[in-house]
Amino acid sequence: MFAGMASSPRSWPRRLLRGARQLRKGDARATRELARLRPFLRFVVVFSMSIIVPAVLLAYLALASISAEELQVDADLERRAESLVMQVSTDVHDLLGGFEDRTVQRLREGQSPLDNLAELSPHLRVAFRFDPEGHLVSPFELPARHPQVEPTAFYRSEWTRGSRLERAGEFLSAAEAYRTAADEATEPSHAAQATFAWGRALRKAGLHAEADQAFSGIYAEYASARDRWGFRVGDLASLERARILLEADPEAGRAALRALVESLLADRWTINRPGEPAVARRALRLLEGAEDADPDWVARARTRVHDRTTQLYWASALAEELELLTSDLPRMAVGELRYVAHPGSPSLWALLWTGEALFAFSLDYDALRREIRSTLARADRLDEQISGHVLRPGDPTPPFLLRSQQLQPLAEVAAVSATDPDAVLELKRQMRRTRGAIITLAVTMSLLGVLLSVRLVRNELETARVKADFAANVSHELRSPITQIRLKGEALQLDLTYDEEDRRQHYATIVHEADRLSRLVDNVLDFAAIERGAKRYSLRADDLTEVIEKTVDAVRADLEARGITLEVDVPPDLPVVWIDRDAIGQVLTNLLSNAAKYGGEAGWVGLQARVGLDSVDVSVSDRGVGIDPEDQRRIFDHFYRSSDPLIRRRKGTGIGLTIVRYIVEAHGGTITVESTPGQGTTFTFTLPLEPPGDVGV
Ligand code: ADP
Repeated sequence: MFAGMASSPRSWPRRLLRGARQLRKGDARATRELARLRPFLRFVVVFSMSIIVPAVLLAYLALASISAEELQVDADLERRAESLVMQVSTDVHDLLGGFEDRTVQRLREGQSPLDNLAELSPHLRVAFRFDPEGHLVSPFELPARHPQVEPTAFYRSEWTRGSRLERAGEFLSAAEAYRTAADEATEPSHAAQATFAWGRALRKAGLHAEADQAFSGIYAEYASARDRWGFRVGDLASLERARILLEADPEAGRAALRALVESLLADRWTINRPGEPAVARRALRLLEGAEDADPDWVARARTRVHDRTTQLYWASALAEELELLTSDLPRMAVGELRYVAHPGSPSLWALLWTGEALFAFSLDYDALRREIRSTLARADRLDEQISGHVLRPGDPTPPFLLRSQQLQPLAEVAAVSATDPDAVLELKRQMRRTRGAIITLAVTMSLLGVLLSVRLVRNELETARVKADFAANVSHELRSPITQIRLKGEALQLDLTYDEEDRRQHYATIVHEADRLSRLVDNVLDFAAIERGAKRYSLRADDLTEVIEKTVDAVRADLEARGITLEVDVPPDLPVVWIDRDAIGQVLTNLLSNAAKYGGEAGWVGLQARVGLDSVDVSVSDRGVGIDPEDQRRIFDHFYRSSDPLIRRRKGTGIGLTIVRYIVEAHGGTITVESTPGQGTTFTFTLPLEPPGDVGV
């Protein structure tokens, strides 16, 4: 269908443009030209629609998918960062939310939120209650700010004397000295301290009743006075009395110790003063040492004392902040809960105003931070590509930050960054490389397919053209001998010859042309048999010289009539070779007739035979137009005729050399061509001397 285009497929765009231009001018030839181009255009459109456009679209989609996939990697990373940040902030929210709910619940039920702090939150360290004026009410009190008054010189000397005597074991004299000091004291705390020492010395001297009296005096007069180490002298006196009692009446002694511990626990302890917990612990130790002590009660009391002591420790560490809180109490709505964090403080304060009291809860800020960090660390372990950070105000932002969020109500920010951005980049590069390679491969394969298809189509077109040429050439070749035979036959029939000689000439022409016709038909039939694979030759040991001579005799007259000298150079002693006589005759006839056809102008054709090592080589030479090197590779292909106009002028079918090569190869030989354009051509075929293995191919 593309026969019209096949001769010059490359020039079609130019022809199309020219055609379109001329068509506008109303050129009839252009219309015809375009009509011939139509099938080719149709082919181009179908080809583009079915192969090129889909291939380009697919390549485009594949390329677009690379960047989409890269964006996906980033989005995925950010999504994971986002979810981690969310998780941390939810954790903080849950942590504090639980505490808030439980605290409000307790207040609603009318219970104190100052007890069992661990139940409210594991991070709650201490809680305080203030009255509406901002005074600390419970469970602790702030120490009174009394200036320390120095004792008088006399007091000091009596005190020192008492201590020395007590150390020396002279308890009665020591008691005297302490008593003098107590009488002379100007400050209640000095008097209390000296009275306590007096009682203690009396106890050591064995005067229990007197000692007890001294202690109860303290209890009545100076219960809350403190000695210079921060102990309430009243507590110390109670302890000493219980000890005395424990010896006289253990039951009563134990009850006194228990009462002392209970009263201490019920009392407010003073921040920054170690006395109360120390006395309580001392009383518990004495109880543990006593017989028949209630161990369960002791254990419970010990836990309570321990908890209270820990709270006191926290409260002492926060003493300054507490003062800050009380001096600057925020205005709050009833039931409102507000968080306050002082920079650098170990405490996160939660303030709750009930309308009657303000509760201040101190949460362990470091423990909260640790909790957040452990959430981040857990997630870090699960996802290698992201890392979490807890940033305090002023901390630098980590590099390759993906997401960050303020962890309300804390001052901290949870930040998530890419652990190794190079690894992410490398992952993207790897993806790009793999995709790129696949796309390149696919595109290359498609292009290769396109090229192969184009070549295939072109070859098919060429074959179609060559076949069409062949049919035309054969008809042409047939017509000329038939015409000759007919003309000469008619002349004879009508007796139009001049004389006997002329008549013989006519008969000779008829025979010659019939020979030509028969050769042509033989060639076509042989070619058809070869194409079908049905051609067989029967080889036998034969005299090649004789075959050559016979062929030469048959063609010589014709050549000479065309003014061509045939120079034959064949040694007389050619060895016997295995041949099919007629077939080798056909080879020689074809080669000689080609030499005459394409080299006849030079008036010379040569035939030479030579004996080689293991073959006989026969060459047919001419001094004619020669064969272009490009054509030399293709002249043995069927139907092939050179496109050189010099050659095309001569009649031919393009199957002669195909038959020649087939026959030579069937004899186990080879055929080669040597040619220089403009100088001449030599075809040489070899016939092996050895008999072929399979005689009768
Ligand atoms: P035909 O001669 O009928 O065209 P052949 O198969 O015999 O077909 O030859 C094939 C082609 O080889 C010819 O068309 C011609 O181009 C080339 N050819 C063959 N012999 C010669 C020669 N002696 N000199 C130049 N060209 C030749």
